[in-house]
Amino acid sequence: MSVESVLRSDYLFKLLLIGDSSVGKSCLLLRFSDGSFNESQMSTIGVDFKIRTLELDKKTFKLQIWDTAGQERFRTIAAAYYRGAQGIIIVYDVTNKQSFENVEMWLSEVNKYGSGDVNKLLVGNKSDLTGKREVETERGKELAESNGMKFLETSAKTAENVEEAFLTMTREVFQQIGSDVA
Ligand code: GDP
Ligand code: MG
Repeated sequence: MSVESVLRSDYLFKLLLIGDSSVGKSCLLLRFSDGSFNESQMSTIGVDFKIRTLELDKKTFKLQIWDTAGQERFRTIAAAYYRGAQGIIIVYDVTNKQSFENVEMWLSEVNKYGSGDVNKLLVGNKSDLTGKREVETERGKELAESNGMKFLETSAKTAENVEEAFLTMTREVFQQIGSDVA
C-alpha cells in the first residue's frame, strides 16, 4: 500500500477489544497490526491502541483499535474508553469456559457505556488449542445469534481468521454508516 493511500484514508473507525483478562486480546491486536505473535507478550498496562490502514471494496479504512488495560476488572476508564467507538469485538477463550460465561457481563457493559447502535462481533480465540477446548463452536454461534452479533473463532497464534475478524467488523461498521446516510 502506498504512503499516499495511507494518508488519504476514506474512513476512520474506532474499534475496541474487550473481554476477560488473558483471552488473547493483545495478541490478536499484535497479530492484526504487526503480523506477529509473541508468546511472552507483556500484559498491557494502561490503555493502548494501534492503527492499521486497509483497503476493502476499493475504499481505504483507517482502523484505530483500542486494547484494554490489563485492568479488565477495574472499570474506572470505561466511559471514556467506549466513547465514540463504532465497533466492539468481544473476545473469549475457547479453552476457558468462564471467559465465555462472562460474555453476558461484557454485553451488559456495552449496553451501559456503548452507543446504542454500536456494532458488535463475538470472537472465540485460541482455536489452535484443540485438545483443551471447553466451549464448542456451536455454543458461540448460538450466543452470537441471540444477541444479533456475527461470530468467528480465531487463533492469534496461527493467524487463523484474525484478518477476517477485523474485516468483518469493518464491513459491519461501514454498512451501518451507509444505511445511516441513506
Ligand atoms: P489479554 O489479556 O486478553 O490481552 O491476553 P494476551 O493477548 O496477553 O494473551 C494471554 C495469553 O494467551 C498469552 O500467554 C498468549 O501467548 C496466549 N494466547 C493468546 N492468543 C492465543 C492463541 O490464539 N493461541 C494460543 N495457543 N495462545 C494464545
Ligand atoms: Mg492484554
